[in-house]
Amino acid sequence: MNAPVPKPWIMDIAPYVPGRSTTDDGRKVVKLSSNENPLGTPAGARAAFAAAADSLERYPDASGSIVREALAAVHGLDPARIIYGNGSDEVLHLAAGAFAGPGDEVIFVRYGFAVYEIAARRTGATPVIAPDRDYATDVDAILACVTERTRVVFVANPNNPTGTYAARAEIARLHAALPATVLLVLDHAYAEYIDGDHDDGGMALAATAANVLVTRTFSKMYGLAAERIGWGYGAAPIVDAMHRIRLPFSMTIAGQHAAVAALADHGWVERCRRENAELRRWFSDEIASLGNAGLRAIPSQANFVLVVFEGALTAEAAYKGLMDEGYIVRWLPGQKLPQALRITIGTAEETRGVAAALRRLVGRAG
Ligand code: PMP
Repeated sequence: MNAPVPKPWIMDIAPYVPGRSTTDDGRKVVKLSSNENPLGTPAGARAAFAAAADSLERYPDASGSIVREALAAVHGLDPARIIYGNGSDEVLHLAAGAFAGPGDEVIFVRYGFAVYEIAARRTGATPVIAPDRDYATDVDAILACVTERTRVVFVANPNNPTGTYAARAEIARLHAALPATVLLVLDHAYAEYIDGDHDDGGMALAATAANVLVTRTFSKMYGLAAERIGWGYGAAPIVDAMHRIRLPFSMTIAGQHAAVAALADHGWVERCRRENAELRRWFSDEIASLGNAGLRAIPSQANFVLVVFEGALTAEAAYKGLMDEGYIVRWLPGQKLPQALRITIGTAEETRGVAAALRRLVGRAG
């Protein structure tokens, strides 16, 4: 029977697997699998979301002007150079869609964010995977992958699922060595979680270079994952090309108002960053104390920690054991990480609980 035939590169895509929120037997337990904010959403953003219920019959503002103006004011940006989308996921797709196609190559690191491969393949481009350096982004390995077919390089900083951070000098070196025709996408989904005032220099590059796009999101620190508000900043011609293929009404009215209200909560970022950093340090130390059992925490600058299992307790057994104890974390064999679990930093109680559960599992496996 004749039937429509999908493009072969579409059928090569392995569908994205989201973090789970229930156990195999349907129990709702502590969800530490999607790097969401355990402190929730700023109160003002929740109120703005609720108020939007009065205008549901109207299309949202397609130009996202209130969001762009608020972002421009907070970050000192040109509002005309802000692209936005249904989460930064859409913005990543727009970058690949506008700059890559069949015959082109798109580079990202081996243990990188899963959407890069999907976004690259969707355009018909060939994904090129750069090796890591002990789970971290290796600038030299990325540069070694560059060919005359390279169109886009995706780097998440901090990276997901490893939590690793490439310092400003490394990002500068990467940008300086890339051909001017290659779009460097610096994915800052977790940038608010970086310790102190560290800054990888991405925004300054996006403001001045012709080939850099920084992407950001309201899903993580701002606690608005449900509303799907992401954005990006880059040179005007880059943003202009992306606008041509974005969905006309990609940001909902409620999401736009909630995002603006979240930005207005001045203490929020500082408070969430501090709480996360303290718990992340404590949790990483706990894992280090299980080093004899082969557990290792990869140094993280994000709101999660990648724990590598190199002893008697395997990551798979720990994943199942934690689920039995009421904690859902992320096991990523599909991303070629069967030896590791990515664990979101939750509330203090959740973080202590998952660490204690891991300690019990190690004890039983030993
Ligand atoms: N980039 C990275 C590195 C991520 O981990 C995520 C969320 N999983 C995203 C982008 C996309 O987030 P959102 O679409 O919610 O903005």
